[in-house]
Formats: sequence, C-alpha cells, structure tokens
Amino acid sequence: MLKIQTTPILESYLNEQTVQNFADQLQGELIRAGDANYDETRAVWNGMIDRYPALIARCASVEDAVTAVNFARENNLRVAVRGGGHNVAGLAVAADGGLVIDLSQLNNVVVDADARTARAQGGATIGDLDAATQAYGLATPMGVVSATGIAGLTLGGGFGWLRNKYGLSCDNLIGAQVVTADGRIVTANEYENSDLLWGLRGGGGNFGIVTEFEYQLHPVGPEVAFTFILHDASGDNLKRAIQFYRDYSSQAPDEISTIMASGIVPPEPELFPEPIHNKPFVLFGAMFAGDAAAGQRIMKPLVDFGEPLVDFSGIMPYIEAQKAFDADYPDGLRYYWKSLNLSRLDDEVIDRFVKHARRQPSVFSTVDLWHVGGAVKRGRDSESAFHGRQAAFLLSPEANWEHPEDDEANLTWLREFIADMEEFSDGSRYLNFPGFLEEGDEMMRAAFGDKYHRLQALKDQYDPTNFFSLNQNIKPSH
Ligand SMILES: Cc1cc2nc3c(=O)[nH]c(=O)nc-3n(C[C@H](O)[C@H](O)[C@H](O)COP(=O)(O)OP(=O)(O)OC[C@H]3O[C@@H](n4cnc5c(N)ncnc54)[C@H](O)[C@@H]3O)c2cc1C
Repeated sequence: MLKIQTTPILESYLNEQTVQNFADQLQGELIRAGDANYDETRAVWNGMIDRYPALIARCASVEDAVTAVNFARENNLRVAVRGGGHNVAGLAVAADGGLVIDLSQLNNVVVDADARTARAQGGATIGDLDAATQAYGLATPMGVVSATGIAGLTLGGGFGWLRNKYGLSCDNLIGAQVVTADGRIVTANEYENSDLLWGLRGGGGNFGIVTEFEYQLHPVGPEVAFTFILHDASGDNLKRAIQFYRDYSSQAPDEISTIMASGIVPPEPELFPEPIHNKPFVLFGAMFAGDAAAGQRIMKPLVDFGEPLVDFSGIMPYIEAQKAFDADYPDGLRYYWKSLNLSRLDDEVIDRFVKHARRQPSVFSTVDLWHVGGAVKRGRDSESAFHGRQAAFLLSPEANWEHPEDDEANLTWLREFIADMEEFSDGSRYLNFPGFLEEGDEMMRAAFGDKYHRLQALKDQYDPTNFFSLNQNIKPSH
C-alpha cells in the first residue's frame, strides 16, 4: 500500500493496482516516490523548497493532463501544477504526499508569422518561446531570465524588457486552452469564454491547467540596443543613482523598458573581473524596442552616469539580451523574494531603500526597482485581472544565498525591509515575487484590489471546490 497524504485531515490509501492503472493510462511517465529519477523530478529552482509528492505525472499530451486531473479528483489528492518550476514559493511542487501534474515536457511552440501569433504549450520556457518567435523576427513580452516558465509568468502578469512598448505578458495573451477541475478541455479567447481569458491575464493558476497559451507577437530585433551596466554605488552614489533612475525612466519613451538593481558584486571570476569583487554596485538595465542605433543614443545617459565598474551594454541579438541575467540565478541556491507596489519614489522613500539595501546579508542578493510606465500603465486595465498598473515603481528585494545556516538572517532582512516600506505603498504586491505566500488571504485581496470579487466569481464558476489551490489562491466564496 502506498500512503498518500492529501490534507492534514484527509488521507486516502491507494493500492499499487490503482496507481498502476493510472500509470498505464498516461502517455507520459508516472514517477513514484523512491524511483531513481524522483529526486531530480521533484526538485524546483529554489533550493529552499524540499517537498515530497507521492506521484509526479509527467504529461506527454493534453489528454494526460485530463487523466491526471480526473485521477486526483477521484482519489482526493492534493494537486500541484508545474510549468517551468520557477515559482519562488515553490508552488509547482508544494504538496507533500500529493500529485504533481508536470507539464515540463509539453514545450512545443508554433508560430503563425503572417498572423503574428504564437501558440505555446503550458510547459514551455521563455527560452523556448523566444527561440521560436525570433526565427521570424518576432517576439512577445516575457521575463528577463530565459529558464522561467511562460505559464506562471503569464498567469501572474509578466514584467520584462518589452513591457513599456508592448505591455505585460498577460496583456499579450489572446487565447488559451484550459483543462478544468472537472476534466473538461475549454477554450478561452475573445469570442469564447472571454471571462476566463480575463482571469488568466493575471489571476494565476486558479481556474485550471493551461495547456496552451496563444500570444500576440510584435516585430523585435533580431538585434536590439541593450544597456547592462554596473556603476559604483559606494557612499552617496546609491541615492544619486536611484534619483537619476527615477527621473530617467519616468521620461523615457515607451521603447525603453528599464530595471535598476543595487547589490554587491559577487566574487565570481567567471562573471565579473576580480578587481570589482565585493564592491557595492547599482545596475542599470534597459532595452530599446526599436531602431538599435537610435536606442543606443537615447540610452546613453544610463551609461554616462557615474563610475562604471563593468559594462556589458551594446547592440546584440534579442535572444542574447534575454539571457543577460541567466547566470545570476542558478538552480538550487536559496531564494526568498518579496515585492511591493510603490506609489512614489521621492527622497524619503529612497533614503529608506538605501538604509535597508546597505544591510543585505548576502553578496548574491539584490534590491530591484522596475519602472511601471508606458504600455503597462496605459494597458486596458479592465481587460485583465492583473492589478498593479497604478504603481509608480515595483520594488522587489531578493534574498539569494547559499547556506541553510544563513536562512534566518536573510529571511529577517527581507521581511523587515518590506515591512518598513509598506507605508509607501497601497499594500498591493506583484504576485510572481511572492515570498512563501505566508501572508494568506488578506494579502491576496490587497493584491487584486477591486478585481478580487470578479475573480472570486470566476473561481466559483470554474473551480468551486478549490481543486487548484496551490497557487496565488483565490478561495471560492463558500
Ligand atoms: C530566476 C527568475 C527570474 C524571474 N524573472 C521574472 C521576470 O523577469 N519578470 C516577471 O514578471 N517574473 C519573473 N519571475 C517570476 C516568475 O514569473 C514566477 O516565478 C512564475 O511563477 C514562474 O513560472 P513557472 O511556470 O516557471 O513556475 P511554476 O513554479 O511551474 O508555476 C508557478 C505557478 O503557476 C502554476 N502553473 C504553472 N504552470 C501552469 C499551467 N500550465 N497552468 C496553470 N497553472 C500553472 C503553478 O501551479 C504555480 O502556482 C522570475 C522568477 C525566477 C525564479
């Protein structure tokens, strides 16, 4: 007998034959606790997460996802859905004793260059999507690390290098295929189940398993002007840099999407020259979605500011720029991120930022600011569940560290940082940088603002039993 833990109060016992029947129905592999590849398959990007699901269904088809949903429902198993496995809170595997429905093998992308659309399966990564679309000189806004899953990213919003010109990832979602909690395959687009499409644009994995995402594409690259420069941030430089970043990004044309990060140069010779190791830095990152030569000219102030420690800027393939941060986020490091939508970034806010940023316990950590402007701000707010366009800047401190004995120092730093910045925010957050979701229901309500009730009504309609609960969870009304 295989003991399956579902919830603390509900346990069921599945005999081997039941599990074997399930395995036989799947076209993909069913991995059980104890199998040779169990540990590598249950591992997610964040090394803090160490969960032991009873079963992992590696779907090889949409039908497999339906089979897995039906099996879990009939056997009262707690379900986690895995796209790219990059959720910071580890939601792709969060069920000890439950079933992981793993889509990572479903990563095919089909581009219709004439219609400028792409259909990507639910387990595709940003890298998969970019490679397919760039073959036609096209792209859709995605995040800035190529191994991230398109699924979690899009369902939570999706901030990246094209956002001010073309909006968030979720703004470019024009259709989806969804497996619902009762095992149906449902289409959502402008004409069919448009309410569901609205919910998928920022409402998380609450309504079902998205087996296919359809995106609007735009002409991008293949070469783009890209700024990626680290300036010295010792002394007053950090404050000056944040002031400069605020003013520059707020006036920049929509073609430019920017990120600023403060940190300490990690002593990693393969990434950074030794003389700058352990120096405080401020990173200015920016992409120009338009003519590359013009972009370089317009972004030059970001390069000319201050004392450069190292400069990776230039005209380069879009695909290369999309990977600029990849090496900074290896699998298995310990990670704890949170965020806050800042309503303003005046000197009072900046001073508080600097105070906490200077205390980061780990050299691998950074404190990031994302300008919220352009097409994100002007985006048709009513057409998406995403809530956060009202922010001036998105603040995201990231605690990134190596050893378990440093857990407490890093968690404490981050929690104190966020708590002390709350007064500069309306209380809403970006749900894709979620900590461990420890704040619960109250945070979810604040995160969705006045959209929460519509989302709850949608949850009642598509998942009244909260079968899909291991996500940025919206609880059914009863
Ligand atoms: C290194 C790194 C860089 C990042 N960079 C950015 C960035 O530039 N911009 C940005 O906006 N965000 C960024 N993020 C945050 C990222 O958007 C979230 O972590 C997101 O959840 C990752 O999606 P995933 O599919 O990889 O995650 P997973 O862990 O697989 O899933 C995340 C959540 O979505 C659900 N889910 C997954 N697949 C599906 C599906 N097919 N259907 C329904 N539900 C599903 C899961 O159940 C889970 O709740 C980054 C994260 C990391 C770790």
